[in-house]
Amino acid sequence: MAGMMRGALLWASQNNWLREHAARYKFVRHSVERFMPGEQIADAIAAASSLEGRGLDTVLTHLGENVSTAAEAESVTGHYLDTLSQVRAAGLKSELSVKLTHLGLDLSHELCQANVEKLIQAAVASSIIWIDMESSSYVDATLDLYRNLRKKYSNVGVCLQAYLLRTAEDLAALLPMGPAIRLVKGAYLEAASVAFARKADVDENFFALSTKLLSKEARAGGVRTVIATHDLNLIHRIETLARGENLTGADFQFVMLYGIQRAEQLRLARDGWRSGVLISYGTFWFPWYMRRLAERPANVGFVIKNLLGG
Ligand SMILES: Cc1cc2nc3c(=O)[nH]c(=O)nc-3n(C[C@H](O)[C@H](O)[C@H](O)COP(=O)(O)OP(=O)(O)OC[C@H]3O[C@@H](n4cnc5c(N)ncnc54)[C@H](O)[C@@H]3O)c2cc1C
Repeated sequence: MAGMMRGALLWASQNNWLREHAARYKFVRHSVERFMPGEQIADAIAAASSLEGRGLDTVLTHLGENVSTAAEAESVTGHYLDTLSQVRAAGLKSELSVKLTHLGLDLSHELCQANVEKLIQAAVASSIIWIDMESSSYVDATLDLYRNLRKKYSNVGVCLQAYLLRTAEDLAALLPMGPAIRLVKGAYLEAASVAFARKADVDENFFALSTKLLSKEARAGGVRTVIATHDLNLIHRIETLARGENLTGADFQFVMLYGIQRAEQLRLARDGWRSGVLISYGTFWFPWYMRRLAERPANVGFVIKNLLGG
C-alpha cells in the first residue's frame, strides 16, 4: 500500500497538468509551508539567519528543474549570483545546491557547465557549490560535468544516491579526485533494473558508502563528506562509526531538509557534529513537494488536515 502511494506521488511529481492546477489550491499551498520558509529569497535568507544563529550550517536551493530555453537557464544563474551576494551581505555562510537541468543541462552540456562555473567562481573559495543528483538518466552527464569542474575547482560537490546499484562503482571512480560528496538515499521513481527496490538494501548500501567516504584513505585523499539523511537509525550507526575512527565535527557534516527532524539537527550540533539544513524556496515547488510526500506517505495526512481545516 505504502509502495503504491509512493509510486502515485512520484508519478504526480512528473505531471505538468497537476503542477499547474493543484499548486493553485490554498490547502496545498498551506501544506507545503511545513517544508519551506517561503517563496522569496528573503524568506530563505531570514530562515538561514535564524538557523545559523542556532549553530546550524545552511544550504540554499531555488526550486526548479528542466528549463527549456537558454534564457531561462541564464536567468536562474543570475538569480543564484544575486543569492550569493545577498548571503554575503547578510554575513551568512550558506552554501548553494543546484540542479543541472535548472541550469540548462537538457539544452547543452557546455552552456550548463559555463553556468555552474559562474557560480563556483562567484562563491568564496571555502563555500561549496553542490550539484544535486536528479533521476538516473542524468547520472552520467552529471558525473561527467562534475569531473570536468572538479579538475578546475576545489569548491564544487556532487550528490550520490545510495538507492542506485551503480553508486558504489561511481564513488570508487570519483575518490581519487578528492571529491566533495553529499550522500542521500535518492528521491525519484526508478526501475528495479537500476535501483534497489527494498528499503533495507538501500539503507545497507547507504551505510557501506558512508564507511568508504569516512575511511582514513578517503579522508587522506581530501574527500569532504556530507551525510544527508533523516534516518535516525543510520545517523546513530554513522555516529558510532565516526567515533570508532576518532572523527570530530570538523571531519564531515550531517545535513537534513528544512522542517524535517529539527530536534535531531540541533541534537547533532549540541553533540559536537557539524549539522546543517537545506532550505528550499521559490514558486516552482510542486514536483519537489510531491517527492517530499512520497518519502513519507503519512505526510499526505497533513495535506488532508489542511483541506478539512480550510
Ligand atoms: C540535504 C539533502 C539533500 C538532498 N539532495 C538530494 C538530491 O540531490 N537528489 C535526490 O535524489 N535526493 C536528494 N535528497 C532526498 C533524499 O534522496 C531522500 O529522498 C530523503 O532524504 C528521504 O530519505 P531519508 O534518507 O531521510 O530516509 P527515509 O528512510 O526516507 O526516512 C527516514 C525517516 O526520516 C523522516 N522523513 C524522511 N523524509 C521525510 C519527509 N519528507 N517528511 C517527514 N519526515 C521524513 C521519517 O521519520 C522517516 O521515517 C536530499 C536530502 C537531503 C536531506
